[in-house]
Amino acid sequence: VKYVYDFSEGDKDMKDLLGGKGANLAEMTRLGLPVPPGFTITTDACRAYLKDGEVPESLGTEVTRYLRAVEDKLGRKLGDATDPLLVSVRSGAKFSMPGMMETVLDVGLNDKSVEGLANIAGDAHFAWDSYRRLVQMFGKTVLDLDGELFSDALEEMKEKRGVKLDMDLTTDDLKELTEQFKTIVKEQTGHPFPQDPREQVDQCIEAVFRSWNTERARIYRRRERIPHSLGTAVNICTMVFGNMGETSGTGVCFTRDPSSGHSGVYGDYLMNAQGEDVVAGIRNTHPLSDLETQDKKSYDELLGIMRTLETHYKDMCDIEFTIERGKLWMLQTRVGKRTAAAAFRIATQLVDEKLITKDEALERVSGAQLTQLMFPQFDASAERTMIAKGMAASPGAAVGGVVFDNDQAEAYASQGKKAILVRRETNPDDLPGMVAAEGVLTARGGKTSHAAVVARGMGKTCVCGAEALRIDATARELRIGDKVFHSGDIIAIDGTTGEVFEGEVAVEDSPVTTYLTHGLEAGLEACKGQKEDEDLVHAVARLMEHADSRRALDVRANADTPEDAQRSVDFGAQGIGLCRTEHMFLGKRRKLIERAILSEPDSNERQEALDELEKLQTGDFEKMLPIMDGLPMTVRLIDPPLHEFLPDLVDLEVKVAVAEAKGEECEEDKKMLTAVRRMHEANPMLGLRGVRLGLYFDGLFELQIRALVGAAARLKKAGKDPCPEIMVPLVGSVNELRYVREEAEKIIASIEQECGVELNIPIGAMIELPRAALTAEALAEEADFFSFGTNDLTQTTWGFSRDDVEGVFFPEYLEKGILGVSPFETIDRRGVGRMVEIGAENARSTKADIKLGVCGEHGGDPESVRFFDEMEMAYVSCSPFRVPVARLEAGRAAA
Ligand code: PEP
Ligand code: MG
Repeated sequence: VKYVYDFSEGDKDMKDLLGGKGANLAEMTRLGLPVPPGFTITTDACRAYLKDGEVPESLGTEVTRYLRAVEDKLGRKLGDATDPLLVSVRSGAKFSMPGMMETVLDVGLNDKSVEGLANIAGDAHFAWDSYRRLVQMFGKTVLDLDGELFSDALEEMKEKRGVKLDMDLTTDDLKELTEQFKTIVKEQTGHPFPQDPREQVDQCIEAVFRSWNTERARIYRRRERIPHSLGTAVNICTMVFGNMGETSGTGVCFTRDPSSGHSGVYGDYLMNAQGEDVVAGIRNTHPLSDLETQDKKSYDELLGIMRTLETHYKDMCDIEFTIERGKLWMLQTRVGKRTAAAAFRIATQLVDEKLITKDEALERVSGAQLTQLMFPQFDASAERTMIAKGMAASPGAAVGGVVFDNDQAEAYASQGKKAILVRRETNPDDLPGMVAAEGVLTARGGKTSHAAVVARGMGKTCVCGAEALRIDATARELRIGDKVFHSGDIIAIDGTTGEVFEGEVAVEDSPVTTYLTHGLEAGLEACKGQKEDEDLVHAVARLMEHADSRRALDVRANADTPEDAQRSVDFGAQGIGLCRTEHMFLGKRRKLIERAILSEPDSNERQEALDELEKLQTGDFEKMLPIMDGLPMTVRLIDPPLHEFLPDLVDLEVKVAVAEAKGEECEEDKKMLTAVRRMHEANPMLGLRGVRLGLYFDGLFELQIRALVGAAARLKKAGKDPCPEIMVPLVGSVNELRYVREEAEKIIASIEQECGVELNIPIGAMIELPRAALTAEALAEEADFFSFGTNDLTQTTWGFSRDDVEGVFFPEYLEKGILGVSPFETIDRRGVGRMVEIGAENARSTKADIKLGVCGEHGGDPESVRFFDEMEMAYVSCSPFRVPVARLEAGRAAA
């Protein structure tokens, strides 16, 4: 294997092998830009090191060859006593991990070459300062010594000499300090600081490899979803010095304004300094434009290079450069990082300049960035005091009085006051409170806990798992450290960062959301004359229009209330892909379901409950269908995992036991307990759900179908265009589907006849079980359409309980790299994705153009949308708030 590439051998597309920094140094070298000679050691070498625990032997010989080539090019030798070559050894992974791994500068200095450097530079002070920096950096990063050993010695020296700045120490001071540093190394490690320059290089390379697996690097990668398996490259580059006096300096710049996208000169510059000084912010930098008066030649050259790079990369680049005694050198470039708003502005700006096409512009923005722009924001300039931090579960900014339960939350809402619902964790019982509250804060649970999932679905701000919270719901008291909050005390939560603040923090609405829901004019108006915001709204509008014109996928929404239906239409949904009817029975209506399920079959009580439910359902559909007029509305027959609808068995047992012990009357509860025991399931998610419940429990599906078809028939008669579709959940066998279908067809036919209208209501099934996917060719005989329920399909394909795993062992799985991302968040292509593919193939083998859609949470996940586009699905359906994101991502997938 080839482990080493000279900068002249690689290019920008070799990031996997050369890392981002190495690939871009190679690209700049190829473009003929002034890059100091050097070479890159590949990520292959790093992976080999990490696997075997030692540097591959052939790497050593290759490094010799490439090092000699650099020496020959420059006519200098590494660590030479008269004219030394010095190098920097820098990490550089495929994805930028700023500050996470090691870098060592001035490698090659030793007791002899320091004199050589002093001679050539004509500056002994500079040479000795470089040497003491090397010993310090080497000691800390390569030998893993406590950095304070060195910085303490430095401080002590400055104190003794009565100076403030490092630079004010004399050459003799620096010599003495270097000796002290070397002594520290010897004492701490038992070995002297290596005088052999090649030995230094080899140790640095190994240290960079090792730094891939430091704790902080691992944590960073987990957060950024960078696989642990990639490894880092190592760049060995000739040192150039920005600290060789007043004609030297170093800086960073952007090829255009990273926030507005406008072209111009943006950057900072520091005279007589090394790169670290700029980043560390020790000294005040000058705006790049000042360089024009200080060093016109370098300034003009730099501007020319900026233009070359931008034209070449067709994007905004950021650049690190150094000027050594009037000579400009490029040390790094990459496509520049930017905020979500800047990404949209820059992409359209580049289109206007005809640097990129509109399709390319779609590649430059993402659904994740659009999401960020859609949530209300805390005013960036507002003051705030952070009191806790949890997980950023559902983005947005919410401020309100602390409330501890549904009653309080609803009372606040009815008075038009904003509330933050604070719970240890939430369950379906808390739904009314969550609806009423402005935001939700929990002490326990991860990003996929009930609170998080429900809040995201509602577009409600949520911070969960803020472990510092001590909540006493009975006493209605929240403690964080020694602070105590009571009902009504104001707090603010930021669902984008997970931060919790004390007191009021000013919140602003996002003009982008106003645009997405009310059109361009309203969006622009919401900018209140702010030019930057107006540019942003225009940019988002242009890219959304282009995405819509490109995409092959339709985007529908998951909506179960008239409000959600309206919001879906506002956000541009082309129908409802999933109306979860069981959600229509949560809250107050839950009791009705409870009564229906627990009452004796054929009893009056059951019939009354069913009649009441039918009345309510009819009302629901009569409200929703007109909102969706002319658009498909897929109504899924009830799919309640029973544990979400029945009283908790243990709670009830305790209640009865306590009542009996006290000799109190509890006949009702005892009756209930018997019924709950009868229905109790150890594994409700695999239990009496979906079509199983419908077949087991006479009358339930029928009443829903009657309600839907009846509402549609009446609307049709009134001249409307209702387009309902009936969907059967959790089907595993064609026999289940056939049974329900026959029942449904009978009801439809009789209502059609009764009302004298023809309705054409498609009847289809969800594919949520492996068996459904594997037998979809049989199911297709009885189905007009299929919708992949990828939540349950993930649960059943993996055998992971979707309710439990995320908080329990997923964190461990993610940490260990067993999972890169939760399969409930992004579709697992290999497994669940394959199941979708098989289901689609099977279904199409029976009915070539059967309509296939997706309605699991994955329908709103960017990565997954791409996959469904490849599978040539007709649509994805996601929560209303994700509709714009799915539209954008579907456009990107097609472009
Ligand atoms: C699914 O399982 O993917 C689905 C959409 O249904 P639910 O989430 O309601 O189980
Ligand atoms: Mg499901």
